[in-house]
Amino acid sequence: MTRCVAVYPGSFDPITVGHLDIIKRSARLFESVRVLVVINPEKKTSFTAAERTEMIRKVVRPLGNVTVDTYEGLLVDYVRINDFKVIIRGLRAVTDFEYEFQMSLTNRKLFPGAETLFLTTTTENMFLSSSMVKQLAYFGGDISAFVPPEILDSVAERLRRSPEV
Ligand code: ADP
Repeated sequence: MTRCVAVYPGSFDPITVGHLDIIKRSARLFESVRVLVVINPEKKTSFTAAERTEMIRKVVRPLGNVTVDTYEGLLVDYVRINDFKVIIRGLRAVTDFEYEFQMSLTNRKLFPGAETLFLTTTTENMFLSSSMVKQLAYFGGDISAFVPPEILDSVAERLRRSPEV
């Protein structure tokens, strides 16, 4: 294990089993992992930052070396201030690639002190996204295979016929 602290940033609106898989695998690789809810005022979310953070906290509680934080601003600023060396991102099918590639190059340009590391998704989670969970839940579909059990009921209740989805 690397004696290194890694940060896993995202919207997590809401956290899915795909995100959780990336968190667990990262937690095995690094001394500790910080899951970071990045607030982007331009991006409309279904859950508030506080709600998203709280849901992640519930889900990662059994993992001893994972912490959760929220940040409004540029990711690289957070990374620099907190002296992180590794930024973790998950990669699904080809659709993620272009965006992630662009982001990692931009972040390296802004702050060469950190590397972006990609973990490929598992085949089961290949097509799983927060937006898919939201659409399913809106129509009362079964999301139990996609969302961690600790938050399942509250996510399903909150999103059903919600005008904010
Ligand atoms: P963002 O808005 O920053 O893309 P997301 O919450 O959608 O944030 O995702 C955070 C990170 O997790 C991204 O790197 C994304 O590619 C990855 N991710 C999302 N869903 C999955 C999944 N099912 N399997 C693996 N990685 C995923």
